[in-house]
Amino acid sequence: MLEVRGLTTQFATRRGTVHAVNGVSFDIGDGEITGIVGESGSGKSVTVRSVLGLVRQPGRVTGGSVRLAGRELIGLPAREMRRLRGAQMGFVGQSPFAALNPVFSIEEQFRNVIRAHRTSSRQDAAALAADKLSAVRMPGIQRVLKGYAHELSGGMAQRVVIALAMLLDPPLLLADEPTTALDVTVQRDILELLRELMLAGNRSMALVTHDLGVVAQYCHSVIVMYAGKVVERGPVATVFKRPAHPYTLALLDAVPRGDQPGKGLRGAPPNLVRYPAGCPYAQRCSRVMERCRTEAPVPTSITNTREVSCFAPCTTE
Ligand code: ADP
Ligand code: MG
Repeated sequence: MLEVRGLTTQFATRRGTVHAVNGVSFDIGDGEITGIVGESGSGKSVTVRSVLGLVRQPGRVTGGSVRLAGRELIGLPAREMRRLRGAQMGFVGQSPFAALNPVFSIEEQFRNVIRAHRTSSRQDAAALAADKLSAVRMPGIQRVLKGYAHELSGGMAQRVVIALAMLLDPPLLLADEPTTALDVTVQRDILELLRELMLAGNRSMALVTHDLGVVAQYCHSVIVMYAGKVVERGPVATVFKRPAHPYTLALLDAVPRGDQPGKGLRGAPPNLVRYPAGCPYAQRCSRVMERCRTEAPVPTSITNTREVSCFAPCTTE
């Protein structure tokens, strides 16, 4: 469904060039849910925005390839990307209230999205909107359609955003921390809903989260990002059972288990303006070797489904 190769995105700032995404490669298969994890600032959101063609000045995709069902997206005109967003790729972000327009009724927002892509009568648009709201198990659909975003709870507003993202049945959904801003009690409901929608339509999803428990429960594969690079990727079950990158291991050790508190991550990620020459994790790594400080490891296959960027991986199976 999605093939990302060598994706590179930078921001030209007064402080210098921010190397936000540095040669990121991954695939998302049909019907696959892929988790994207990594500390804050590791480039998860910029990666997602780059795939969607939503990077704005002073940012720019400076290299690499993004193929959606075989079609290259990098370099497509803005008009073409707008058409693909919605029809081929849906997006769900962190804050539903930022995504929804406060001055249009929910029904008008559905109509606007439909009409941006095709001609549709008022009645047909309303029927499609009701149908999609029912798919996200929205209670009181007619009342919601006539109402406004501010009348909804966070969880209900996010259901509307998901219904809007799924409106044109895109085969790929990109969800960037879709539950982080929501009440804990509704987070699982939203994740269950997303999984159900993906399963029902054999759709693919990239799910950005900082919760490894969510990845374990909802994702088939995982991409671990550090300083704008993919340091490890593979099937969730094996990556979490036998992490290959010392950073993946540190992330897993940071998760509290039962009454055991997590081991906090030491240190901080590197400055993305003065990007280090060697491995970006070298300064925090417990397994660091001389070579790591001067030479950057590249993604290397350890099995036919797993890759790691490390000269001394914790496992080679
Ligand atoms: P994550 O989502 O993993 O927390 P992001 O993808 O948002 O991280 O950010 C990656 C890096 O890109 C960060 O260092 C961030 O400061 C930088 N960045 C993101 N947006 C901009 C911008 N508009 N201008 C400058 N730097 C940016
Ligand atoms: Mg982010």
